[in-house]
Amino acid sequence: MEPAIALSGVTKHFGDVRAVDGVDLEIADGEFFSMLGPSGSGKTTVLRLIAGFERPTGGTIRLSGTDVTGAAPFERDVNTVFQDYALFPHMSVLDNVAYGLRVRGVARRERRERALEALAMVRLPDVGDRRPTQLSGGQRQRIALARAIVVKPKVLLLDEPLGALDLKLREQMQVELKQLQRQLGITFVFVTHDQEEALTLSDRIAVFNEGRIVQLGTPRAIYEDPVSPYVASFVGTTNLFDDATSQRVLGVSGSHAIRPERLSLGPADATSNGTGDLVLRAKVVEVIYLGSANRVHVRLEDGTPVVVLEQSSGSLPAPEHRGDEVTVRFARADVVALAGDTEKSGD
Ligand code: ATP
Repeated sequence: MEPAIALSGVTKHFGDVRAVDGVDLEIADGEFFSMLGPSGSGKTTVLRLIAGFERPTGGTIRLSGTDVTGAAPFERDVNTVFQDYALFPHMSVLDNVAYGLRVRGVARRERRERALEALAMVRLPDVGDRRPTQLSGGQRQRIALARAIVVKPKVLLLDEPLGALDLKLREQMQVELKQLQRQLGITFVFVTHDQEEALTLSDRIAVFNEGRIVQLGTPRAIYEDPVSPYVASFVGTTNLFDDATSQRVLGVSGSHAIRPERLSLGPADATSNGTGDLVLRAKVVEVIYLGSANRVHVRLEDGTPVVVLEQSSGSLPAPEHRGDEVTVRFARADVVALAGDTEKSGD
């Protein structure tokens, strides 16, 4: 089957700025695909290119096998949900949701039925008569979603759609988005700079830097096996060791990373005891309580800062305190060697 979206050698220049720089990308039908990267890395521009709001400087864009590189937005079977919702304030919620159907010439009665159905899907069946201003931010967000899904697009493009919501609402909406996507079987392309959001929602993630995709893979692959220090530092707090630190601490050359949750703390006199684990002496700098875990910042004897994430559990000894002498323990297999390295530890 043709991929829902295929970008081939796509570039976009704005004057001297190379916003998108040779992107090749195939997104499968029904996939939840995220584009993750810092501000200015080109994610939104790629989304706008797919939607047809921008024309590429070079390369081709195909939707389900059809070349749409030069096609206008309305000629493409995609729909976009923007962060700022862009609802019409003078229209009722129901009319807002039905808007895309009206533009497409759908008869009044069917419009109403389908708009109500879409409102039910985002679990706001009773607000159709209200104005957008009479809704909370989270409700407005759902209306924007309902408005986008009502036309049953094959592809839904979402540009930081949860960016304006508070944490609780955001988490709730993440679950709902995922359920909606499964239910409708629509291809979702999701732009975010929130790594956790990308990891929890996506089938696959493209990590962007300076207009290029620097890594493409499943959340697990990106999290467990980042290809470069850039990806490792962008996706999750990590302990990054440069070449010199790796040689000092790990006894190997090249850059390495270790996830904070793969480290554990022990008493100052702990030894590896023949387990093959590395056990390093350290001093606690700071303990940060996170509810379900503690994030403990320590400093190794040579001064290298290391972050340890310890799950809270009733059976654990008393939490460490600032200034405590401890040991940091980890398995060599949990050390990730990063790109350009000649050695790969642990496997
Ligand atoms: P954000 O998360 O802040 O939205 P982004 O990763 O989506 O960032 P883009 O908006 O795609 O990044 O921007 C990529 C680059 O292209 C940036 O350097 C930006 O300044 C530039 N750019 C984007 N749109 C335009 C435009 N219309 N004119 C000029 N430069 C632009």
